[in-house]
Amino acid sequence: MKSFPKKFNLLMIEEKWQQNWEQMGIYRFNRTDDPRPVFTIDTPPPYPSGDFHMGNVLNWTYIDALARYKRMRGYNVLFPQGWDCHGLPTEIKAEEIYKIKKTDLPPAEFIKLCKEFVGKYIDIMKKAIIRLGCSVDWTTEYRTMDPNYWKNTQLSFIQLHKKGLMYKGTYPISWCTSCETAIADAEVEHETKQGTLHYIKFKLEDGNHLLIATTRPELLPACVTVAVNPDDQRYKRYIGKNLWVPIANRNVKIIPDRLVDPEFGTGVVMICTYGDKADVKAVTTHHLDSIILIDEKGKMNKNAGKYAGLTAKEAKKAVVADLEKEGLLEKTEKLSQEVGTCWRCKNPIEILEHEQWFMKTRILTEQVKKNTLDVTWYPDYMKNRMIDWANSLDWDWVVSRQRIFATPIPIWYCKKCGEIILAEPEWVPIDPRTEDPKIDRCPKCGSTNFTPETDVLDTWFDSSITCAVHAGWPDNKDWRKLYPADVHPSGYDIIRTWAYYLMVRSLALFEEKPYKSVLINGMVLGTDGRKMSKSLGNFVATPDVFQKYGADAPRQWATGGGATGSDIPFRWEDVEYAWRFLRKLWNASRFAGMHLKDYNPNQKPAQLELIDHWLLSKMERVTQKVTAALENCQFNVATDETRKFTWHSFCDQYIEAVKHRLYQPETYGKEKRTAAQYTLYTAIYRILQLLAPISPHIAEEIYQIMYADDKKHESIHVSPWPIIHEELVDEETEKNGDLIVAVMGEIRRDKAENQKPLNAPIRKLTLYSEDKTTTQILRQAEEDLVGTCKIEKIEIVKGKGEGKELQGYPDVRFRTEY
Ligand SMILES: [Zn+2]
Ligand SMILES: [Zn+2]
Repeated sequence: MKSFPKKFNLLMIEEKWQQNWEQMGIYRFNRTDDPRPVFTIDTPPPYPSGDFHMGNVLNWTYIDALARYKRMRGYNVLFPQGWDCHGLPTEIKAEEIYKIKKTDLPPAEFIKLCKEFVGKYIDIMKKAIIRLGCSVDWTTEYRTMDPNYWKNTQLSFIQLHKKGLMYKGTYPISWCTSCETAIADAEVEHETKQGTLHYIKFKLEDGNHLLIATTRPELLPACVTVAVNPDDQRYKRYIGKNLWVPIANRNVKIIPDRLVDPEFGTGVVMICTYGDKADVKAVTTHHLDSIILIDEKGKMNKNAGKYAGLTAKEAKKAVVADLEKEGLLEKTEKLSQEVGTCWRCKNPIEILEHEQWFMKTRILTEQVKKNTLDVTWYPDYMKNRMIDWANSLDWDWVVSRQRIFATPIPIWYCKKCGEIILAEPEWVPIDPRTEDPKIDRCPKCGSTNFTPETDVLDTWFDSSITCAVHAGWPDNKDWRKLYPADVHPSGYDIIRTWAYYLMVRSLALFEEKPYKSVLINGMVLGTDGRKMSKSLGNFVATPDVFQKYGADAPRQWATGGGATGSDIPFRWEDVEYAWRFLRKLWNASRFAGMHLKDYNPNQKPAQLELIDHWLLSKMERVTQKVTAALENCQFNVATDETRKFTWHSFCDQYIEAVKHRLYQPETYGKEKRTAAQYTLYTAIYRILQLLAPISPHIAEEIYQIMYADDKKHESIHVSPWPIIHEELVDEETEKNGDLIVAVMGEIRRDKAENQKPLNAPIRKLTLYSEDKTTTQILRQAEEDLVGTCKIEKIEIVKGKGEGKELQGYPDVRFRTEY
């Protein structure tokens, strides 16, 4: 056993172990001939924003606690780490920082700029993950922007294309006019906004008019029909009649449509291409032609007539003014309505018709739902989010993006006949924007001229194959052995993207679910109860937390802050509490270390005292609870139980109850000292084992000081998880020990009430109980009571007795004489 340093310097301890662990290589996954069972984690590669926030701390602490627990359970753990580099946010940042537009440079140069600062941001985030003490196998590190990963993404596209699951077509899609790209349903956010409902007069041929209420009068030039509910008695007689559309100045037919809500507005609705998804549905159902009005930049096109060139917002103003002038605007009303916005820039999205690449996802919905139910969800109710999402999908997944910094779509077109040339698997990685297809001529018409597909792939197309890539697909022949992943960790806010896309891609590509379980984390809330965010002013930066408290304490905030999957508020007090707990454990271990210098771990004492048995029984019980909790990813239960046992049963109660035996073997006997030494030695080791997944640094440091020489494991993190000894759990012993501990606590209080110091001697203590067993138990622990409470004379009397009542034991009374 080594000696403890005088000072408790957690920050230094943590940084030392972070370096040592990496050098020791104990977190390496062994791909070849390992007898251990495998546990694979589908670590979501984060988008390198350069900011590792408290939400990341929560997420990675869950993953790491699970990884460490499984390693101790004897698994060969794969904890990989990648970076999801592509995408809009990076492009937008590059445009901001370098004050350019993506189109100002050749694509290759723009990509170089993006790569440059993505590289910098990765460094920052990698340091933070290491600083948090995560047991990542860094030999697995990958970046989705690197050619080798492009190869994977493109290969998956080729395979899906060959299966007939990718198609190109012109359909209405969600479009961000600010980012100038298509976006997927999953990227559309819904916000409640204040709008205005305009009641507009549409003239009938008989000179009368119908009123139509709309929030988007600027779409009048794109009105293709007007619909009413066929059951609506007010309007039944108008079905089939013509209606004059103001502003557009042309007639449309009134059609019946059961989807029209008679309660909304006037019960007459205009179908425009496209105001919302209901319009898209109506156009498909009734085989209507569309009139495209808004262009990719959000401006009105020539179909808008005199409004052409205006933005949608400007056009609305102009149209309303014209309607008013012509007396066609009956009235307006305020209306709060749900508006689809772009996840990235928060601008309202438009629905445009645009030629795009799609993946057929809806045909897999039933399979997605079936497999979602096959997966274990932590917590279970989160699976409903996935099922609801799958049920809500109206459209296939639009996978093409009109951007630059992304994986290129491996497609060319024959200039002459339009034939699609799909890259062969052995061509990838390839960038059609700068490379020709590796064929001499078009297989259909023989032409030698090709045009590249310049669209690129949605970032989710990169990141929704991670389970397979982590397993070794496509290069490693044995990849199926590691597939599906044992766990996919994720936030509940991205179930509809990450968990869903992984599932649908995996079913499409491999006819297999991608993961066996999903571990969900909630959001981190600020002190004001709202989601923590820089813009709300309730933000806490992780470097501030790490600098003050290191990682082990905030990790306890993360694991202990609430049930898995629930939102967790960040409170400095919680981190401070965890830090004090760690210091308490350190001090207790240091105290034990001083008294264990002459202890031989191979020597089991002949006999243990009641209070020793009591602690060991509680220790087994807490081991059972923590083990069950970690098996079910209930990190808060594991944290609470470990802390309660350590702080209260061990530090406050047990250590206080055996100090006299440790300090005075000449009075209490060498045997009893050995019994206390044995119990201390055993209990601290157990505490370190239970704490290792949650606060790995301090567990390692104390292990190395006190146990490494004896236990001979390279690190506590590769030592076996404790085996539970059921036979040591003894309810009777615990009950009896609780009584003794209660007496000790009561006497401590009594001394305080009498303004005596804790070590003040008591001339005489008399304990009374009418119960024979109780008096026997008290007598059994007489010596520990005397030693702990500094009692000169003790008398245990069977009888009703007098004096104060022992709290929680109405049958026991006591009297102290000082
Ligand atoms: Zn946008
Ligand atoms: Zn051709």
